Amino acid sequence: MHELGVTQNIVAIVGEAAKGRRVTRVTLEVGKLSGVMSEAIAFCFDVVVKGTALEGARLEILDIDGRARCKACGLEFETETLFTPCPCGSHRSTRIRGEELIVKSMELVEAA
Ligand SMILES: [Zn+2]
Repeated sequence: MHELGVTQNIVAIVGEAAKGRRVTRVTLEVGKLSGVMSEAIAFCFDVVVKGTALEGARLEILDIDGRARCKACGLEFETETLFTPCPCGSHRSTRIRGEELIVKSMELVEAA
């Protein structure tokens, strides 16, 4: 599963940034056009964090809607997939949001 590797990367990045502190919360932004499913990340997270600084941390996922700007008419519109056409019928558009997959924030506590 693609999301397992993605989750392992996220946990590794956050674990490194924590520098020995315990992580109590992680907030991710997952764009709907990023190609990963936030449900699958949430599922993998509980497994991947076992034995790491993130064990027991709460995971928050903010789903980011996809948006694109049409190259034909200039309209900015919401797009569910990479192939959603503009309401004007044009398939030529520039994606402006929805491909992000980032760690937005994390909460740390000093290890006891
Ligand atoms: Zn258009």
